[in-house]
Amino acid sequence: MKKYIYTFGNGQAEGDGQMKELLGGKGAGLAEMNRIGLPVPAGFTITTEVCTYYYANSQQYPADFEKALRAGVAHIEKVMNAKFGDPKNPLLLSVRSGARASMPGMMDTILNLGLNEEAVRGLGECSGNPAFAKDSFARLQHMYQDVVEEPLPQDPWKQLMGAVGAVFRSWNSKRAIEYRRINRIPAEWGTACNVQAMVFGNMGEDSGTGVCFSRDPSTGENIFYGEYLVNAQGEDVVAGIRTPESLEAMRKKFPECHKQLTDIREKLEKHFRDMQDMEFTMQKGKLWMLQCRNGKRTARAAVRMAVEMTAEKLITKQEALLRINPETLNQLLHPMINPALKKQVVAKGLPASPGAAVGRVVFTADDAVAWAEKKEPVILVRAETSPEDIHGMNVAKGILTSRGGQTSHAAVVARGMGKTCVAGCGDIEVHAERKEFTVKGTVIKEGDWITIDGSSGEVMRGQIGTIPAGISGEFETLMEWADEFRTLKIRANADIPRDAEAARKFGAEGIGLCRTEHMFFDEKRLPFFREMIVADSVEARKKALDKIAPFQKEDFRGLFRSMAGLPVTIRLLDPPLHEFLPHTEKEIAELAEGLGISKTKLADKVENLKEQNPMLGHRGCRLGVTYPEIYAMQVRAIMEAACELTRDEKIRVIPEIEIPLVGLTGEIRILREMTEAICKQVMTETKQKVEYKVGTMIELPRAAFRSDAIAPYADFFSFGTNDLTQTTLGVSRDDGFRFLPEYEKMGLLSKDPFQTIDFEGVGELMKVCIAKGRQVKPGLEIGICGEHGGDPESVEFCHAIGLDYVSCSPFRVPVARLAAAQAVLKKNK
Ligand code: PEP
Ligand code: MG
Repeated sequence: MKKYIYTFGNGQAEGDGQMKELLGGKGAGLAEMNRIGLPVPAGFTITTEVCTYYYANSQQYPADFEKALRAGVAHIEKVMNAKFGDPKNPLLLSVRSGARASMPGMMDTILNLGLNEEAVRGLGECSGNPAFAKDSFARLQHMYQDVVEEPLPQDPWKQLMGAVGAVFRSWNSKRAIEYRRINRIPAEWGTACNVQAMVFGNMGEDSGTGVCFSRDPSTGENIFYGEYLVNAQGEDVVAGIRTPESLEAMRKKFPECHKQLTDIREKLEKHFRDMQDMEFTMQKGKLWMLQCRNGKRTARAAVRMAVEMTAEKLITKQEALLRINPETLNQLLHPMINPALKKQVVAKGLPASPGAAVGRVVFTADDAVAWAEKKEPVILVRAETSPEDIHGMNVAKGILTSRGGQTSHAAVVARGMGKTCVAGCGDIEVHAERKEFTVKGTVIKEGDWITIDGSSGEVMRGQIGTIPAGISGEFETLMEWADEFRTLKIRANADIPRDAEAARKFGAEGIGLCRTEHMFFDEKRLPFFREMIVADSVEARKKALDKIAPFQKEDFRGLFRSMAGLPVTIRLLDPPLHEFLPHTEKEIAELAEGLGISKTKLADKVENLKEQNPMLGHRGCRLGVTYPEIYAMQVRAIMEAACELTRDEKIRVIPEIEIPLVGLTGEIRILREMTEAICKQVMTETKQKVEYKVGTMIELPRAAFRSDAIAPYADFFSFGTNDLTQTTLGVSRDDGFRFLPEYEKMGLLSKDPFQTIDFEGVGELMKVCIAKGRQVKPGLEIGICGEHGGDPESVEFCHAIGLDYVSCSPFRVPVARLAAAQAVLKKNK
């Protein structure tokens, strides 16, 4: 017979703490507590295999399961010296769920099983406390009805079978499914079910029940943290009906139990070498342990505990690093919504850039600036943002858009600025012209207060209190440890010195991507750039470019200065030119006047530049090939800035000039030749030598396949996985959000490919590209600068396939540092 149950009690257990897959976290913890001699009520764990059998067989149990169940109950009866279903001395049981990964509160529990009209009298008599017996019976009736959704049967065995079935079914309750989806817990795991002798915290004033943590789960401080309730059962503590008392109060009232609990705290923490979340019950002054597990914690607490436990020699540095979920570090770098406060979520979008922002709603970038000048905090709400909104985004506390995905303009720019952003919030309809947006029938107008949470994607009305960001000494320590182990270099995507400086503070080892187009949107430069676009001749274009050149040079000087001694990858112009032109009639008229040309001429130009698929159109290096003077101006500005800074300020400058969207060998060949010629010329003119590199982004499948032909012309490759994902999957990075969430729900895709690299598709292409590229050029420097560069799973992948660096937005640098260290440690494991 297959083993369906594992018994424990009286200091013995068939299972142990390692058997989480079979016994679930709770079952394994109960077994282990028995093994180390803690007082645990006798019981047994029904394995997760029974649950998976139950689901695979139309909710039937294996043939010999009931026999095993009865043997398990007999074991408890023997230890507890009471009988299940006995009217005089009834044994009562609790039935609790317990999956491999903890899913607090997601599944069901039933207490006091075994009571019926007869047994309740017996229990009253043998406990000498009829009120307690009645209370327990009422609780059972209520819970049974609630969980099993049937009146309570009188036969205790039927009660038990009903309860076990209900626990298994709760694995597939709506909230459990949702929790699994969010936490990526596979449905196939199933839950175990723990059947245990009841101990009673509701037996009077000398009884009670409580929950405690071996350290403070919100700050990580090494203090005993918890609360308890006198004369109560477990669920009363969490239900919040009565206000629990502190452990300090317990120490005064129950010194013996408190002392014992304090010893257990120490013993368990030493044993499991991690912070423990424990449940206990006192029955007539005797302490019983009902549960222990590694406690959930805030990111702040996780970091502090990992570092302090290493100092206490409880764990190693490596373990400390592996304990922190890199993604959660974001919480520390941004303010977050105070979890203790009530909030009413009115809409939900994509969590595009973390942090919480509270502000008054505005609908245009100019209004954002105007309100901000009056010292009003604002949230910029747009259907989607465009580069023309930068000045508004810059002053806003947060950005909310109704359209666009994780790599939309709003998301990318907000992350770069470290600004909160909720993108693609389809629940809202933006009416910018009326200065309002609607959400499920409610109208929110300009000036109304809202709060957005870029970590969860939630949008709330009103002002919700936040907790400020806080980087602690422990955080710095942890980052230093990460640097000891990682081999991947971490760079940042930054376009302006302020972002570059922030990145450097977070530990960036260079800039992996400067998108030069963001510089053109500055209001001082845009007119010149537009003049260049509408120019009729090369000469006229050059004249306009000459006016932009000094600005560009100044930008590059700033970046080189803030990254002194570190490489700075500067990408030549990438987006299609029409993005820089206005589109409304009014704006076209205004610009035509400013440029001194006719309205129709400008309107024609705008029309001519429009493309059906701008992402696949006249952009990237195709601009450089057809309008070489644009790239020539940029290369000259880069090189002049580099040479002059080296000469005048003795700063070590390492420019890496990058050509975007290369697909054909000829493209990079022509552009490299031109770039090199200009670089040499500038070095001669300035009498200064600067080591520079010329390389390319890999954003097209063709480039990946032809990397051996491209490599001879490139000193480095950088995977632009935003475009590479778009071009490999054939899914628009701006519109994918419309159906990708549905695909994820249906299991067609396990993750959003614009967030985590699609390992099987895009990832394979990357491997081919690396292999072929390095075949002709061993040691070719290869990095990644798409948004994936800050995603922990993608970072691990990048390490595995041999990249030299990842580049991500400044605020994700710490995330990437830790993820890169974990990649090494996991591989060594
Ligand atoms: C990319 O495509 O991954 C990239 C970094 O470039 P951009 O996002 O600017 O297109
Ligand atoms: Mg790109």
